[in-house]
Amino acid sequence: MLNPATGPVYVEGAEPGDLLQVKIISIDVEDKGIAAVVPGEGVLGDQVTKPIIRVIHVKDGCAVFHGVKLPIQPMIGVIGVAPKKEDGEWATDSPWKHGGNMDTKDIKAGSTLYFPVNQRGALLALGDCHAIMGDGEICFTGLEIPAKVTLEINLIKDKNIKWPLVETDEYTMVIASGDDLEDAVYEATSQAVGHIKDSLKIEWEDAYVLASLAVDLKISQVVDPKMTVRAAIPKYVVSTEKLIEDLTK
Ligand code: CA
Repeated sequence: MLNPATGPVYVEGAEPGDLLQVKIISIDVEDKGIAAVVPGEGVLGDQVTKPIIRVIHVKDGCAVFHGVKLPIQPMIGVIGVAPKKEDGEWATDSPWKHGGNMDTKDIKAGSTLYFPVNQRGALLALGDCHAIMGDGEICFTGLEIPAKVTLEINLIKDKNIKWPLVETDEYTMVIASGDDLEDAVYEATSQAVGHIKDSLKIEWEDAYVLASLAVDLKISQVVDPKMTVRAAIPKYVVSTEKLIEDLTK
């Protein structure tokens, strides 16, 4: 099975219409993982002549591949809650509004995720950790590696979001997915502009301008069944706390 997820964790008191806050305390990875190339997969799948699997060792905080030392930046590839019943079933290899295979490198220790609770208990699950991955996940894998993840889970009552958020030191990012990059970019941008408008209480067009001046669009991944981008709203525009406070029910 691709992208297995561990869980689900039932969160006491979580009801549809709430927000689940998931703080990533630590991601401790083991000392070796794998990366692979599969014919037809990844951005350049048409150029792949043979499948390969490479075992890559991690030592002193670096993955070493062909003599190149890569400082690891452990991240969680798959994390999410149960989808909305009307959204149907989602395999763990796909990202969507409930989270899932978002393959977003900002989902790392020190970051905080926010998910819409769609079903009683939220049903949080996660897996598919990477020791390191570049934006895009070009060849179809990161450095896939076993990991021990420590989380702190909190519940925020009666606040709703359409797509998951990830908070880093500097940004609040909307993580949205679509059939292609344009769809994903549209969704992430639409939510980011909406959050700015709602928090600053300005006209939509002014929020649109502000987003154009300050929000960064970043590619998360382009190799899963849906593509994922993030719209990063700097905290100097609106703090995560304020953004959450101003969410509607
Ligand atoms: Ca993945």
